[in-house]
Amino acid sequence: MADNEQPHFVLFPFMAQGHTIPMIDIAKLLAQRGAYVPCKGGRATSRLRELRCPSFKLSLLHFIYATTLLQPQLETLLITMNPKPSCLLADMSFSYASGGTRKLGIPRILFHGTCSFSLLCAHHIFNSNALETVSDLSDTFQVPHMPHEISFRASQVRATLSPDKSWNDFHRRLLDDEKGSYGVVMNTFQELEPEYVREYEKAKEKKVWCVGPVSLCNEERSDKFARGNPSSVDENECLRWLDSWEPGAVIYACLGSLCNLPAAHMLELGAGLEASGRPFIWVIRSGGDMGGSKELKEMMAETGLEGRLKESSRGVVIWGWAPQLLLLSHPAVGGILTHCGWNSSLEGVTAGLPMLTWPLFSEQFYNEKLLVQVLRIGVPIGIERMMNFGKEDEAGGVQVNRERVKEGVEDLMDGGVEGLERRTRAKKLADMAKKVMQEGGSSHANISKLIEDVRNFKA
Ligand code: UDP
Repeated sequence: MADNEQPHFVLFPFMAQGHTIPMIDIAKLLAQRGAYVPCKGGRATSRLRELRCPSFKLSLLHFIYATTLLQPQLETLLITMNPKPSCLLADMSFSYASGGTRKLGIPRILFHGTCSFSLLCAHHIFNSNALETVSDLSDTFQVPHMPHEISFRASQVRATLSPDKSWNDFHRRLLDDEKGSYGVVMNTFQELEPEYVREYEKAKEKKVWCVGPVSLCNEERSDKFARGNPSSVDENECLRWLDSWEPGAVIYACLGSLCNLPAAHMLELGAGLEASGRPFIWVIRSGGDMGGSKELKEMMAETGLEGRLKESSRGVVIWGWAPQLLLLSHPAVGGILTHCGWNSSLEGVTAGLPMLTWPLFSEQFYNEKLLVQVLRIGVPIGIERMMNFGKEDEAGGVQVNRERVKEGVEDLMDGGVEGLERRTRAKKLADMAKKVMQEGGSSHANISKLIEDVRNFKA
């Protein structure tokens, strides 16, 4: 225990923006509520400790292997920490975390970057033979035991029909670690997906603390701007541009921090945004190995798109990192084109915005289903096949052309009576999201409960 008997939370985030960003928000929330955590800005004293990860430039599986080499450093840190840790809140990707905490007699708590709906989909698909009944990747199958009737194309859930053995082994290790954990912290709120939170808790027989939307801890404009990587755009310039538009006029398009869409697909996206005639912000991940940004730049120059966008003041292209949270909170933004990463999805919910959904890989297809079918605030752009995670998808053709993007944007931003109802539902969810984080709200209460449960934990 730290001073004043505050439980000492040690947070161990996975090294990817979509995992680190919400974990930092959780650290802030815990610190605001008096727990002792290694972060800046809390009332309690805070510290950041670094572990050295060997650098690998190979496949994702190699990268995950590299993270397992952190185990001895983590264990030494936990043993030598003063004050003694009361728990380890570590990302679900660290399959060795529960082993380390067991030695110390403290609880391992799991952070899943996604929602109950998606975790429950994954759980039932993995534990049933639903996918074994499928003979072709284009076949659809129903996920068993779900509160709603939920179906996917096999190609939205798997890149190939035969499961990859290395991934399956890794998945089993994750499941073992989960079994050894005390409970799960989730960046969602009970009122958003009540049946799914309940069913997930039942399926896993674990405590679940829904503490989100955690992005709401960033109240100040400067916090919203500084979240994640350094912004690639000038804050004031971007906001001035947004100020020049009517409320709800602008569409914000961003496919997340790991977008691996090939240049030809991205070009269709950009050309579709242009053809929609709506003002837009288009975020393009540049640099690194993924996304083919150099090729895209050349294609944009050749087709004249770059020149036209420069001339017209209707489109802003952000190459690199956008201050997403800040931009989404501007009243001129009226809709999002998203890859359905869970953080972006929930940030969209919190901003009260309907979403045009363009999932790429991983659990993004499950998140899309929640947005479109259960919450009914999403319009699917029509992606039927996942990209190969972490690699540029070269084999598959363009799935969505510029006409479809244009239609999708029209549907999202106008969409008649249906569009209006969608927008009303999104606004209601945003009101709910704000309430749950305030005193008396469910997520506020769950943070207190999490701190209490850790304080009272008996090994
Ligand atoms: N993000 C951002 N600027 C960008 C791209 C992403 O601020 O240009 C943030 C976004 O707000 C979200 C996170 O990075 O909090 C991305 O997480 P998400 O789960 O949406 O997708 P991932 O990047 O993990 O696929």
